[in-house]
Amino acid sequence: MTNPFLRPFVSQLKNFATLSDLEGLFPRREFELLKDAGFLQMPLLKDPFAFAPLQTRRLLDILKMIGSASLPAGRIYEGHVNALQLIDLFGSRSQKDFYFSEVFKNQSLFGVWNTQDGDGVKIKEAGNGQYLLEGSKNFCSGAGWIQWPLITGELILKGGGGWQICVIPAEKMKDVLVDSSAWKPLGMRASVSYKMNFSGIVLDQKDLIGPPDAYYRQPYFSGGAVRFAAVQLGAAEAILEETHQFLRENNRADDPFQKVRTAEIACLVETGNLWINRAADMTDAWIWSPEQNEKLTAYINMTRTVMNDLCLKSMQLSERSVGLRALMQPHPLERIHRDLTTYLKQPGPDAAMASVGNYVLGQKGISTLWK
Ligand SMILES: Cc1cc2nc3c(=O)[nH]c(=O)nc-3n(C[C@H](O)[C@H](O)[C@H](O)COP(=O)(O)OP(=O)(O)OC[C@H]3O[C@@H](n4cnc5c(N)ncnc54)[C@H](O)[C@@H]3O)c2cc1C
Repeated sequence: MTNPFLRPFVSQLKNFATLSDLEGLFPRREFELLKDAGFLQMPLLKDPFAFAPLQTRRLLDILKMIGSASLPAGRIYEGHVNALQLIDLFGSRSQKDFYFSEVFKNQSLFGVWNTQDGDGVKIKEAGNGQYLLEGSKNFCSGAGWIQWPLITGELILKGGGGWQICVIPAEKMKDVLVDSSAWKPLGMRASVSYKMNFSGIVLDQKDLIGPPDAYYRQPYFSGGAVRFAAVQLGAAEAILEETHQFLRENNRADDPFQKVRTAEIACLVETGNLWINRAADMTDAWIWSPEQNEKLTAYINMTRTVMNDLCLKSMQLSERSVGLRALMQPHPLERIHRDLTTYLKQPGPDAAMASVGNYVLGQKGISTLWK
C-alpha cells in the first residue's frame, strides 16, 4: 500500500488522471507533478552518470504508486525508465553523460518505441557516418511529448546489420509525422500512443546506441516486464481501495458475500506484492550470478502472467461487489476498468508462458527451481 507520506501526492495524481481521460490529452499535469518531485531523474546517479544499480524494489514501488493513480502516466513513466536503462546498458560513456545530463538539467522525458507493423523502420547507411530512416512505429506512448525517444529498426549495412536501437535527437522530432487517427482504444487514451513516421530523418553514428541486436539481449528484454507488471499491480491496489471505500460508505460492508469478495481481492493484491518483491530481489541478486539469465527471465515471465491474471480477477470481483456503478462515470472504477483492460494487453503472453515451461522442463529436477 502507498507510503502514507506520499498519499497527498498520489491523490493529486488521481485527480489529474480524471481530468486527462480524454481523446488526445497527454497527462501534462501529472508529469509536471512528477518532474517537480524529481521522479524523472530518480532512477539515475550523478558523478559519474549512471542508472542506479540494485534499486529494483524502490523503482517498482514508484511504478506501482504511479499506476495506482494513473495507468497512462505509469505507462509513459515506465517507458522513460526503460529508455534510461537501455542507455545505461548499451550506451557509450559520452552518450550516458549527454542523455543523463539532459534529464538532470532539462527534465527531459525519454521513451522506447519498438512496436511496428509491416511498414516498420529501416535504418539505411547513407555514407559519411550517417543513416537515413524510413518507416513507422506503432503505439508510441507520449507521442509528441517525448523529447528523446529511443526507437528500434532494421539496420541495413553491407555485410551485416540487425535490430538497432537509436535515439531521435530532440531537435529532429518536429520532422517526425504524427498520426493519431488509429488511436481509438477502450482505455489508456491519455497515453497518446500514436503512430510515428520517421521517414527522411537522418541520424549520425553518435545517435546509435549499442551494437545491432542489443535490444533483445536477455535477461534485460524479458526482465523489463516486471516494470509494467508493477504499474498494473498499482491498478489492482486502486481497485481494492475503491471497492473497500464503496462498501463502507454504502453500508454494505457487513454482508458475508461482500466480505468474502473483498478478502479475495485483498489476497490477490498481496499475491501481486509478494511476486513483485521476489522478482525485484531476484533481479538485483542476478547481478552476482549472471549465469542465471534463463532462470530470471522465466521468473519475470511468471510474474507478468500472474499479474495479468490477478488484475483480471480483481476487476471482476470488484465489479460484482460494486455493481453497475463500477461501470459508470464518474466512478473511478469505470476509468480503471477501461485503462487496465487495455494496459493488460502486452506482447507475446503465450510465448512468455511457453518460455517458463521450456525452462522448467529443461531442468533435471524441480527441487531447486527458483533458488
Ligand atoms: C497503452 C499502450 C501503450 C503502448 N505503448 C507502447 C510504446 O510506447 N512503445 C512500444 O513499443 N509499444 C507500445 N505498446 C505496444 C505493446 O508493447 C504491445 O506491442 C502491444 O500491446 C501488444 O498487444 P497485443 O495484445 O496485440 O499482443 P500480441 O503479442 O499480438 O498478442 C496477441 C495474441 O497473439 C498471440 N501471439 C503473439 N504473437 C504470435 C505469433 N507470432 N503467432 C501466433 N500467436 C501470436 C499472443 O500470445 C496473444 O494471444 C503499447 C501498448 C498499449 C496497450
